[in-house]
Amino acid sequence: MNIEPQLSTTTTVDHVLVWLRADLRVSDNTALNRAIASGLPVIAAYIATPMQWYQHYVSGRQIDLIERRLHVIKQQLHDISIPLLILEGDDFSVATDIIINVCQQYQISAVYCNRQHAWNEKQRDRAVEQALLAQDKQWHCSDDFCALPPGSVVTKQQQMYKVFTPYRNAWLTQFLMHNYQPVTNSDTVTPSAQCADLLAGNIDASCNIQTFNYTKQDSVLWPVDEGAIQQRLQMFCETKAEYYQQQRDFPAIDGTSCLSPYLAIGALSARQCLSALLQTLPQCVEINKDNGAFVWLSEVVWREFYNHLLDSDERLSKNQSFQLYTDNVRWLENSVHVHAWQQGQTGFPLVDAAMRQLATTGWMHNRLRMITASFLTKDMLCDWRIGEQWFMQQLIDGELASNNGGWQWAASTGTDAQPYFRVFNPTTQSERFDPNGEFIRQWLPELKSVPDKYIHAPSLWSGFGSVNYPLPIVDHKQMRLLAIERYKQAKTEY
Ligand code: FAD
Repeated sequence: MNIEPQLSTTTTVDHVLVWLRADLRVSDNTALNRAIASGLPVIAAYIATPMQWYQHYVSGRQIDLIERRLHVIKQQLHDISIPLLILEGDDFSVATDIIINVCQQYQISAVYCNRQHAWNEKQRDRAVEQALLAQDKQWHCSDDFCALPPGSVVTKQQQMYKVFTPYRNAWLTQFLMHNYQPVTNSDTVTPSAQCADLLAGNIDASCNIQTFNYTKQDSVLWPVDEGAIQQRLQMFCETKAEYYQQQRDFPAIDGTSCLSPYLAIGALSARQCLSALLQTLPQCVEINKDNGAFVWLSEVVWREFYNHLLDSDERLSKNQSFQLYTDNVRWLENSVHVHAWQQGQTGFPLVDAAMRQLATTGWMHNRLRMITASFLTKDMLCDWRIGEQWFMQQLIDGELASNNGGWQWAASTGTDAQPYFRVFNPTTQSERFDPNGEFIRQWLPELKSVPDKYIHAPSLWSGFGSVNYPLPIVDHKQMRLLAIERYKQAKTEY
């Protein structure tokens, strides 16, 4: 733990602190902009919490991405005369001590940050706020992770929407009518010259962690410099958004934006995404909404929906099912099957290809997240929390609200979820969304020689014996009936 940064020269003016968390960007960062607008010299800080990351199964890939991104931001901040301290504490409980220490050390009169929506983070912030107020220091927490703040899109009864479509309609009305402001990427930041002593290197090197004390995995597939991220967004809006609706379900096609890792760590904001889309294709929300760009916008709104839900219902931060009756479902506890699913060895080619894509890259296509989650919860009757945790450990874009939302949707335990009696058939899904087996062959090279006709169910091929690939671990028809029966029973018992 490293909570006592030492400044070798004595500061004489007040500073303000911007505490970076899931908002690792310099452009369009509300807390940073507000800190700069205070007129006082700004210091930025990031606190790494390895113990906390282990406890919440944050993937080594995401931590690697964060570390690489911080190096970029450090330079960007330096260019506008803001020094960045990279500190480390075990977990959230030391955040208060670290912030208070930094405030004392650097004569900080106010702390700025952007709100986080999970329960633990909210508790941590409350503790820090109280400690700061007790020392007559200001605490300014802004809404920034979503384009519209949680609590601002509610029913006439002031309740959070439980169903997505009416939520999206209300969200859209509000966004377009009242709040939408195009975002420019160059912020109007004023260099704070008074930080020159800190920028000149007068900070004890011990308070700038070079590498996190965490088991990391390579994230180099994802560039972290500003230009590359903005270019990916722009390129998607200009060349792919129009076709999104037709292409987004086919994993062999590069038809989605692949921006989720950046949105998860805040290297990109939802506002920036929506702004780029609406500046490129402004008509997409006005004409018939059945168009690719609007469907993409709706996906960004799903992210808002799940984050607003997380903010409004602390059960979602605490591993609880949204639909209480589903706590009565009697899950099967078959660790051999779970292991086969994790390793991409279930004998269902598209499920296995997806799980290997996840293991190799840390990212998985959305259609495949739905198929693999449905397979785990319905075909294997395994508790959704086991899958949620595994995804979190693997995903580079792991984000509590969307991951929990996606898992509870697939497991039929969430709000506005897939009804429990509608069970994906993994073979039919494979035939529909990877018709020629292109994606399957990319990730399962052992199936390269299997003829197209059998690629979705290779065990039916007469040459299967020559292929090093498992037989299906379950019988889909039987498991579908059993899953429906178990959910029905759970509902009756509730
Ligand atoms: P695009 O299709 O280009 O969509 C643009 C952005 O919209 C995404 O980057 C993402 O921020 C948001 N988005 C898209 N679909 C969804 C959705 N269904 N729910 C919420 N936001 C969405 N997304 C995460 O960011 N982190 C997760 O941990 C995560 N876990 C998931 C787990 C399951 C079981 C399921 C079914 C979905 C999960 N998703 C998660 C949602 C979705 O699969 C990913 O956001 C998407 O695949 C990312 O790829 P993309 O950036 O190309 O998305």
